[in-house]
Amino acid sequence: MSEIMERAAAKINLSLDALYVHADGLHEWEMVMTCVDLHDTIHLTPRADGRIRVRTDSLFLPEDSRNLAYRAAVLLQQRYAPDAGVTIDIEKHIPVSAGMGGGSADAAAVLRALNRLWQLGLDRAALARLGLTLDSDVPFCVYSETALVTGRGEIIHPLGQTPDCWVVIAKPPVPVSTPQILNEAARPERLPHPDTQRVIAGIQAQNLPLMAGGMGNALETITEDKIPEIRRIRQKMRQFGALTAQMTGTGPTVFGIAATHSRAQRIYNGLRGFVPEVYVVRPLKRQTKEVTAE
Ligand code: ATP
Repeated sequence: MSEIMERAAAKINLSLDALYVHADGLHEWEMVMTCVDLHDTIHLTPRADGRIRVRTDSLFLPEDSRNLAYRAAVLLQQRYAPDAGVTIDIEKHIPVSAGMGGGSADAAAVLRALNRLWQLGLDRAALARLGLTLDSDVPFCVYSETALVTGRGEIIHPLGQTPDCWVVIAKPPVPVSTPQILNEAARPERLPHPDTQRVIAGIQAQNLPLMAGGMGNALETITEDKIPEIRRIRQKMRQFGALTAQMTGTGPTVFGIAATHSRAQRIYNGLRGFVPEVYVVRPLKRQTKEVTAE
């Protein structure tokens, strides 16, 4: 096989709940996640010399073993294809360190693509299990479809398509330390909780207001206390007509849900002079093609 291409879609947390902390320090999560049509593009070219090389078009991303895409390739190579080599070119479009799972999406795309390129015949569950060793968002990104995600991030229950809607994404230009936010979430019982069951019911009934009514992010207040812009962006989105607006992941990115394109455009126009990075996107319709181990 010659060069192949794979898309790595950004994720948003329609709900994010931290239930408790395991003895190993990792959180027990309950999250409804979906992907949006904002994606990195990954090109993979086989190499005869057995080496793995990552190149990116971003000045700010590592191209060595600190890159999650590189680590995903090494993981598969070491286990299943010790002689195979590949060059991985990443066209970066997902905002970095934004709470949109860009690194995890790239790693998951590399797992899916190398599974094809190297003809490994692994199914999604097997790729997700491998991916969990890289980052807790990788299993979801292997599936890249709307799902309830529990455990430490490894239990994925696909939920079907979200109700039709538009998503306005705004990333304030401020850094967030994910480990710091997670440390401060060590007592989840003190955090506000979204209504996950309502989000799921809204998806199953294709009822957008019901879904939006249950949404929330348990970590939002922690990040907002450090970055007050997040609260202001949420308020502005609501003011311009979003059904709801909240942070994704550990932030700092905020997204608002709109029922129509014109409403989404109004929110976009209202935010453009206020936040440098704003996008109007839709939940992703494409589903990852299942690969069976025949
Ligand atoms: P997390 O919550 O896991 O920190 P995030 O979605 O907020 O993730 P990412 O864009 O994944 O943010 O970046 C987080 C860190 O991962 C950054 O420090 C970045 O340098 C590193 N990283 C490693 N590989 C990648 C990659 N392929 N794309 C983006 N970031 C990467």
